[in-house]
Amino acid sequence: MSAGAVTGAVTGAVTVRVPAKVNVQLAVGAARPDGFHDLANVFLAVSLYDEVTVTPADALTVTCSGPDADQVPLDRTNLAARAAELLAARHGLDPAVHIHIAKNIPVAGGMAGGSADGAGALLACDLLWGLESTPAELLEICAELGSDVPFSLVGGAALGTGRGEQLAPLESGIFHWVFAVADGGLSTPAVFREFDRLAAEAGTDIPVPEASPRLLAALAAGDPDALAATVVNDLQGAALSLRPQLGRTLDAGLGAGALAALVSGSGPTTAFLVRDPESAAKVAEALAASGTCRTTRVATSPAPGATRH
Ligand code: ATP
Repeated sequence: MSAGAVTGAVTGAVTVRVPAKVNVQLAVGAARPDGFHDLANVFLAVSLYDEVTVTPADALTVTCSGPDADQVPLDRTNLAARAAELLAARHGLDPAVHIHIAKNIPVAGGMAGGSADGAGALLACDLLWGLESTPAELLEICAELGSDVPFSLVGGAALGTGRGEQLAPLESGIFHWVFAVADGGLSTPAVFREFDRLAAEAGTDIPVPEASPRLLAALAAGDPDALAATVVNDLQGAALSLRPQLGRTLDAGLGAGALAALVSGSGPTTAFLVRDPESAAKVAEALAASGTCRTTRVATSPAPGATRH
């Protein structure tokens, strides 16, 4: 470790809390030659959090606790481990930390849980090692880790373009949400492949993805009815094609009074926009009773990004 790094370094443990996200607009362009898709992605951070704790150790290790912990890889493919390695490599350090993830965000659920842990570990290691990286330096590493990781760091509400990693902050009022967590995950690349397959089958031109001005106005106004009328997820058809039973979950939430129902990102978590906390409790109860999902979570948006806890 360099002398400069030691000066501001923290002894002991650093814990960072980091939010899940929902996309109220996910506009997907045609596949690019590099296989990625251009996106116009309106992200909202929601108040479901993972907590990432880093502690000095002899070597890089990862542990995870929480209901979905058995689905989280504990090797170097874990995005939190990759974040620690990338940051350490930039500063000529040994990433000798123990990373513990207290996982509350559904795994492989389209809520950017892995991305959240990557952003959380990055900030936690930066603090532990006293590196004092600028936000721009951290965001650059986030973009290297994955398309959704920069947003996990900044949170709030933002428009992501490019692969989703070029962020512009957005104004947003407070919204209330219910999430229905499905059994098993959906692979994001598989959902994009299905999107491409369905688009080829339909043979129609895919428009250049653009944020909807009406949706951005509804967001800024904090108007749930206007937002409900404009939410759109271009991946929803692909997620439903791979997991048709999600249609029953969407119907159950709408039947219970949700203003809008959509697949969250690449799914299979489904998101329900509701008017207020009372409606959230009612919709969550109806979803649980419907037998169409594994569990439900109630949350609000926007939530802050990665924050020391
Ligand atoms: P996104 O919404 O960004 O597409 P997701 O929420 O659908 O992501 P994740 O929970 O991020 O999905 O998990 C996707 C895969 O990433 C998992 O199946 C797992 O193999 C891998 N992964 C790597 N690191 C993590 C992590 N820290 N937590 C959860 N999954 C991780």
